Amino acid sequence: MSKYRILIHPDKRLRQQAEDIKTFDNAIEKVVDKMFNTMYSAHGIGLAATQVNIHQRIVVMDVPRASEDETGGEDDAVELHDKLVLINPELVDYSAELAEYEEGCLSLPGQYASVIRPAEIRVKYRDVHGNEHDRDATGLLGVCIQHEIDHLNGILFIDHISRLKRERLEKKLEKYLKSK
Ligand SMILES: [Zn+2]
Repeated sequence: MSKYRILIHPDKRLRQQAEDIKTFDNAIEKVVDKMFNTMYSAHGIGLAATQVNIHQRIVVMDVPRASEDETGGEDDAVELHDKLVLINPELVDYSAELAEYEEGCLSLPGQYASVIRPAEIRVKYRDVHGNEHDRDATGLLGVCIQHEIDHLNGILFIDHISRLKRERLEKKLEKYLKSK
């Protein structure tokens, strides 16, 4: 199955603003399929079109769902997850309450940092057929949605951390890429 090449920071194309999708046709489904292949083969949980040099507002994600039952143990037979395609996603609401999560990104391979964002969000988006949806999200799913919408606006998770931490992470990334 074919896949895209993922742009790696500090590629300037990661800073480009993506444009709204206006026509919902087969071409979008093809892009979405290829984006899922790209994401799965890189072991990611989310990918924005911007990261594969397509500057249209398309996001794919497949996020594991935290166990609702803390006492459930490790023998849960079914692994729950949210597989989503978000076209033209927009944050329409977010909580004042904040939460901190360790984030990573396929465009900064091997690098992680704690990022503080609203704990709860509401996203409005369209599916591949152009139908409108909205959804509330918290936890990892909420983080992932915010992270991916940022990509469409040319923003990376390292833009949310201190300059010192960012510079340290960028040096580590350089080393990491050279060692590959
Ligand atoms: Zn990312």
